[in-house]
Amino acid sequence: MESAKNLPVAVIGAGPVGLAAAAHLLERGLEPLILEAGTSAGAAIEQWRHIRLFSPWRFNIDAAAVRLLEASDWESPRPTALPYGGELIDNYLAPLAAHPAISSRLQTGARVIAVTRAGLDKTHVRNRDTTPFVVRVEHTDGETRDHTVAAVIDASGTWATRNPLGTSGLPAIGEDAAAARISSPLPDVIGRDRARFAGRRVLVVGAGHSAANTLINLADLAKDAPDTRIVWALRGDSAAKVYGGGDADGLPARGQLGARLRRLVEAGTIELHTRFGIAALNTLDSAVTVEAVDGRTLKADIVVPCTGFRPDLDILRELRLNLDPAVEAPVDLGPLIDPEFHSCGTVPPHGAKLLAHPEKDFYIVGMKSYGRAPTFLLATGYEQVRSVAAALAGDREAADTVHLALPETGVCSTDAGTSCDIPEPVLVGFPTGLTHNRSGGNLTKETTHS
Ligand SMILES: Cc1cc2nc3c(=O)[nH]c(=O)nc-3n(C[C@H](O)[C@H](O)[C@H](O)COP(=O)(O)OP(=O)(O)OC[C@H]3O[C@@H](n4cnc5c(N)ncnc54)[C@H](O)[C@@H]3O)c2cc1C
Repeated sequence: MESAKNLPVAVIGAGPVGLAAAAHLLERGLEPLILEAGTSAGAAIEQWRHIRLFSPWRFNIDAAAVRLLEASDWESPRPTALPYGGELIDNYLAPLAAHPAISSRLQTGARVIAVTRAGLDKTHVRNRDTTPFVVRVEHTDGETRDHTVAAVIDASGTWATRNPLGTSGLPAIGEDAAAARISSPLPDVIGRDRARFAGRRVLVVGAGHSAANTLINLADLAKDAPDTRIVWALRGDSAAKVYGGGDADGLPARGQLGARLRRLVEAGTIELHTRFGIAALNTLDSAVTVEAVDGRTLKADIVVPCTGFRPDLDILRELRLNLDPAVEAPVDLGPLIDPEFHSCGTVPPHGAKLLAHPEKDFYIVGMKSYGRAPTFLLATGYEQVRSVAAALAGDREAADTVHLALPETGVCSTDAGTSCDIPEPVLVGFPTGLTHNRSGGNLTKETTHS
């Protein structure tokens, strides 16, 4: 960053990790420019404010952010309580975003549409490392502006780019045309989105905790609105993994959720269809028909896609990235988090070194840094940005000394509770793999840890 010393560092996204990055940059004497597409900080979490986090407060807040907040009249939440997404916003992200040190550097309604080097496209190598970045931003006032910055931290998450319903990683034929009949990945079916679901035939697709939460909430809705029909389609052979280990589950909350779901399926409240890989959607006047690869069809008024997420790499097209070919995480991180092979154990602490790309002074952090892997935890992201801020400030030693306060992050989610060779997991986070689901894959292989 030497030649661009007086320029700010762009932080894309004012989610928990983007705001934490800003707090760490400030502590390092660097100037953050936080660009948030939504109308307020935590815009992605706002979409799932009705969902309770699985990790307690103490793992959900960043140390530098807390140091900023403690200088104000912020009331620190009880460390062991499990907040709802909405509480994470109201009691932490919103006060943090309102802190003058952050609010003066935060632009909302500012969607980053591209990042490049000033005057250089991707093919130009000369002086590349010392040339400032240009971040192109679409502002809600209708203007598109280029911001020149010294470095870029992409903390834009993955919420906006869900995996498609179709098998093979592509949208099912007719999926785009059926958009009006596909909800967001975690609709609040008993709250703000109730009217869209009450009395309807709802098809939930996916085998994760998002699916489980939505199905159970739909069953609650059906008590009040008995015409509501609940249909659940899975790609795998059985729902055993989602049911979890019941009473024997290492995570009591997950065990209860799974056991309740099983009872609802067994009672016929939820109609389950396994091995239902989706090939096509056909939009009718008043419904949508969803066709499986083997030709079976299901009719629904609305489809809830609990199929996981993937990173938006389009905005990074002009940068020299080095991504894992499978997971789309930074290349050295990919193998450590690939849920296809690393079902158990812990994600080692990591920072700037592991997150680096050939594009100097550019980092992807937070949920997006895990690419398609669903196992990201906030605490990991906070350590990432502490290290990245140190690296950008030239403090290599602090950047490379990564220490993560996650004693045990393994939370396995296999059919029988665990097939891992680690001891019973200690819950410090939550099995994000279960929660976000993955679009691909054989359920029996799909084990994750947080
Ligand atoms: C339902 C659910 C429950 C979870 N529970 C837990 C939990 O208990 N514990 C845990 O540790 N983790 C949990 N996670 C995982 C993860 O920690 C969260 O997803 C977290 O919100 C990730 O933070 P982030 O800052 O990386 O991304 P996000 O929170 O997604 O924030 C990204 C921000 O970037 C903005 N943005 C996106 N694109 C652009 C753009 N082009 N330009 C500008 N801004 C942009 C978005 O509007 C958003 O505000 C959960 C995830 C989900 C979905």
